[in-house]
Amino acid sequence: MNILIFGPNGSGKGTQGAIIQGKYTISHIESGAIFRKNIGEGTELGMQAKAFIEKGDLVPDDITIPMILSRLKESDCADGWILDGFPRNKVQAETLAKALEDENMDLDYVVEITLDRKIAKQRITGRRLCVANNNHPNHVAIDAIKPVEKDGHLVCRICGDELKTRPDDQDDAAIDKRHDIYYDDNTGTMAAVNFFKNHGGFKVISVDGSLNIKDVNDAIMQDIA
Ligand code: AMP
Repeated sequence: MNILIFGPNGSGKGTQGAIIQGKYTISHIESGAIFRKNIGEGTELGMQAKAFIEKGDLVPDDITIPMILSRLKESDCADGWILDGFPRNKVQAETLAKALEDENMDLDYVVEITLDRKIAKQRITGRRLCVANNNHPNHVAIDAIKPVEKDGHLVCRICGDELKTRPDDQDDAAIDKRHDIYYDDNTGTMAAVNFFKNHGGFKVISVDGSLNIKDVNDAIMQDIA
């Protein structure tokens, strides 16, 4: 099963992606997480991407598109994937659609999590990343995924490992820029969403991201099942 998941930063897209991945044992491919891993490891790709990410800009297409298209061909994607954070603009959407066609890869579902921009922004600053596992969502203001306290500081609620914040989540201008890109329906991410919605050949599932995590997930699963 192959799934695209869209939603503005802060909409809970990564959280839902992690839950869906667990239910279907498909690979959760997060473009942002791939970049962050490369930055952490100091790779060439990480060095190329870092300055763009810190400012909230998109990493250029000539870096991002080949990275994702080759990732989808890796063996752990053979039984399916959920792609999160890509495509992020119209060019990426068109290129992905063409690549899927060329590779005879079917897209089964397009999930769109909708959320008002103001609420999305409020949610961003409270999220925390588990250093051990990117699929362990934590958020200081959401009860269902609240980190736990250990020795006087907050740790991952699932594995107890350390938590960190993303620099681009604590920078007001970077958050605004990411949302400018997301809500842009001319060439930005909403243009990519609309491109896929109009494309056909798979089921489109639109859910209200202002609901709690379980209700959002129930709404998605109801249409996948
Ligand atoms: P995310 O973790 O999805 O919020 O992504 C973090 C950052 O990685 C974004 O703000 C971009 O700088 C970069 N990035 C992630 N996905 C893409 C993409 N599809 N195209 C270009 N840049 C991306």
